[in-house]
Amino acid sequence: MRILLAEDDLITRRLLEAQLKNWGHDLVVCSDGQQAWEELKRETSPKLVVLDWMMPGMDGLTLSREIRKLETKPYTYIILLTAKSRKEDVIEGLEAGADDYITKPFDPQELRVRIRAATRIVQLQEELLAALRASEFQATHDSLTGLWNRYAILGILQKELSRSDREHLSIAVIMADVDHFKKINDTYGHLAGDEVLRQTAGRIVSSLRPYDSVGRYGGEEFLMVMPSCSTTNALNIAERLRSTFEKNPISNAEGTFPVTLSFGLVVVNGKDCQNTDIIIGRADESLYKAKNSGRNRVEFGGEIPSHCSDCA
Ligand SMILES: [Mg+2]
Repeated sequence: MRILLAEDDLITRRLLEAQLKNWGHDLVVCSDGQQAWEELKRETSPKLVVLDWMMPGMDGLTLSREIRKLETKPYTYIILLTAKSRKEDVIEGLEAGADDYITKPFDPQELRVRIRAATRIVQLQEELLAALRASEFQATHDSLTGLWNRYAILGILQKELSRSDREHLSIAVIMADVDHFKKINDTYGHLAGDEVLRQTAGRIVSSLRPYDSVGRYGGEEFLMVMPSCSTTNALNIAERLRSTFEKNPISNAEGTFPVTLSFGLVVVNGKDCQNTDIIIGRADESLYKAKNSGRNRVEFGGEIPSHCSDCA
């Protein structure tokens, strides 16, 4: 466990350092309160801290109060180190935000069990936080491709529309669909189909700009949201993507599959339209036009709202 140790007294500091290292902990060692505070403000600072009460710069009590104000995630567990052992002092220390205290001169056995209890709590916090992050990821991502899911990509589109309204920059929205995907599934099986979708997703991601977003909108349908993108740019990107698929069949353990995509593209400015249903509807219409005109092509549905009475 990484532990921050702040103690101004050289001998006590050395003793603590030796003990904690001996028990396998990694230490960030500070010799005064100010130095400890600088460390604690970093996001990567240890989440278990042992603070001496009396220190120049900032004392342990003040540090405890400041740490609580930071509301760190995961929680920072504070052990106060003090020569004061009167009940009032202990209460004062705990009220300042400390979780535990050890009186000096410290007893190594006591230190060991208190550090062990603290480690358990910090680890539990980290595990809870990791579980929370994992469930947030699951709620917003498609499990097969790792892309944003439909719910999340629509949220991104809505957010980009508000930003585009403020910054007066247009957004390109592309709906892409794998041509004859059912045939791949029916001929080669669902595993092959899944692999095609995964690789298709990977190719799309690597062809877009770092600040573009893409989600799996439906079965074999992908939605791309490209902020600050002109019509010319968007058409170029879509055409390049289309041609990448046409030229490079997807290969995997199940075989080699010629895969092409059809694209429906619209460009919108947030100040003209904030309605994602209308935008998606227009992109979808263009996609169906691309399908009906022979597939493996990009169909441009225009700039919204130039032909759209709904949002004018
Ligand atoms: Mg001291």
